[in-house]
Amino acid sequence: MPLYEYLCEDCAGIFEVVRPIREAPEPQPCPECDEDCERVMPSSFSAYIMRQGYPRRIPDKGTYWHLGQEVTYLPKQARPYEHPQVTKHREKEPLSTQDYTDLVDRKIAERRLAREDRRKERELKRDRIANRGREFKPQPQPQKRD
Ligand SMILES: [Zn+2]
Repeated sequence: MPLYEYLCEDCAGIFEVVRPIREAPEPQPCPECDEDCERVMPSSFSAYIMRQGYPRRIPDKGTYWHLGQEVTYLPKQARPYEHPQVTKHREKEPLSTQDYTDLVDRKIAERRLAREDRRKERELKRDRIANRGREFKPQPQPQKRD
């Protein structure tokens, strides 16, 4: 059964109820004051009850709701739509000494191969220029490396 959200205007708060789809549009009694409450869409929270900028939830555990997720404190400093408890910052694992050595070796090898390629290219070009005007000879093709 899906989860629906209802707003109690008397308590100024939002609470969740799991109920069948066909019952969702019907009013739901508030868990705190028993008043009938209308369903609200999650996207309309901000139009309703805010506590320090965050929607207030019933039961009120003193927590805050950030983009539909419960957080225990308000971020002191955060970009919009981010919260340290919600937004996972993927931290890069530092490279081990061996991995670092391998990486450097690989880079050096790559550069050496690139240098080799450029050298061959230059030689080819020089040959083409030297052969210009002579009878046509197929030029050696650069060999493909595996
Ligand atoms: Zn209420």
